[in-house]
Amino acid sequence: MEQLKQRILKEGKCLEGGILKVDGFINHRVDPALMNEIGKEFAVLFKDLGVNKILTVEASGIAPAIFTAHAMNLQVVFVKKKKPKTMDGLYSTTVRSFTKGIDYDLCVSKEYLSSSDKILFIDDFLANGNASLGIIDLCSQAGAEIAGMGFVIEKSFQEGGKLLRSKPFKVESLAIIDDLSDCKIILR
Ligand code: 5GP
Repeated sequence: MEQLKQRILKEGKCLEGGILKVDGFINHRVDPALMNEIGKEFAVLFKDLGVNKILTVEASGIAPAIFTAHAMNLQVVFVKKKKPKTMDGLYSTTVRSFTKGIDYDLCVSKEYLSSSDKILFIDDFLANGNASLGIIDLCSQAGAEIAGMGFVIEKSFQEGGKLLRSKPFKVESLAIIDDLSDCKIILR
């Protein structure tokens, strides 16, 4: 997606350890005009899959997921990273955070994920695929089917892309970064 790639080149910053900082339009400040285009692009890419619900992870997945859901006329469920006191009856799993280097829990209420769901998962980044594996685990506990996964930015020098493309669902990324070493952003 050209508009997204230009934005990454203009505003993205490389941090140590292969991390791209895009706080100016995705991870801290959010640009709704760009998110609207992102949502429309995902809606076209995933239109024929018969998806009935979009799943994402708080916090940075919520914006692209909502714009995609709006474009597809679907509801969004965001998986939580801490179990709320008010939530009983949930599916949960533990995943490793790439950026923070710690384990954290993902949980979703049984009320909002079930065996009648055909899911599109949307997230901001695909790195090693750990968050995605957590989503696969939650969906399998619920008996829900995953039809597709869409990422705003994929880093192809990490393992997630290869891992997820071996699974039986569609995987799409709107911008793919092939290299971040030497503090240079190399886009595909
Ligand atoms: P994964 O689970 O694929 O290893 O990592 C994906 C998650 O880690 C994303 O949801 C995102 O929050 C975070 N993440 C991974 N790599 C980056 C990065 O380069 N920049 C930012 N801002 N977040 C990242």
